[in-house]
Amino acid sequence: MTVPEQRVLVCMAHPDDPEFFCGGTLALWAAEGRDICYVLATSGDKGSQDATLPSAELTALREAEQRAAADVIGAGEIVFLRRPDGELVADLGLRRDLVRVIRLFRPDIVVSTDPLYYYGDQRVNHPDHRAMGDATLSALFPAAGNSRFFPELWTVEGLAPHSPSQVWIAVPMEPNVEVDISSSIGRKLEAIARHKSQLPEPEFVLERVRQRAAQPDGRYLERFRRIILR
Ligand SMILES: [Zn+2]
Repeated sequence: MTVPEQRVLVCMAHPDDPEFFCGGTLALWAAEGRDICYVLATSGDKGSQDATLPSAELTALREAEQRAAADVIGAGEIVFLRRPDGELVADLGLRRDLVRVIRLFRPDIVVSTDPLYYYGDQRVNHPDHRAMGDATLSALFPAAGNSRFFPELWTVEGLAPHSPSQVWIAVPMEPNVEVDISSSIGRKLEAIARHKSQLPEPEFVLERVRQRAAQPDGRYLERFRRIILR
């Protein structure tokens, strides 16, 4: 089955970000037959208060939980860049890594996080989410579509330039698209529940996620800033 905007690349900082930020939409898209790939900059190696748990074990656990959650969503490949959690910087190395994945997977839609510093007067954006949004937008335009950026990707690795047609910023400060996830909210919650190490009180967290998506008319929504690139 082929649908418009068939290929979707989700570029986020941590395991669990795709499910929390846009899992309902991704589950819908997967059910429609879209091919979904995740690229995660870190493997969430600061996501535990247990000081006795070795980082390598935490990384392995979080990657396994992410694989299980992606299976619930219906996403396919996951690329782990394994940068240190909490220390993500939108540097040229990260931009190049993202250009490589974009040229390999050749998505129509790229989904990422908002590169802003803060949300109104309510909260500060996590620096990793900010850095990943920043690096993703910088990779998308103009680098991914121009062979003169990171020329070794083309001359050595044979990765031809590629320009995605849309970028969707999940949980944006200024949304311009609403997706009705009423039919996939259950799958979103089920996928979030796969991140067991991050949910000491799963019922509380899942209920909060459900309430945040719930609308007065009974529907469930996720919001995005969609930018049409071409
Ligand atoms: Zn995160």
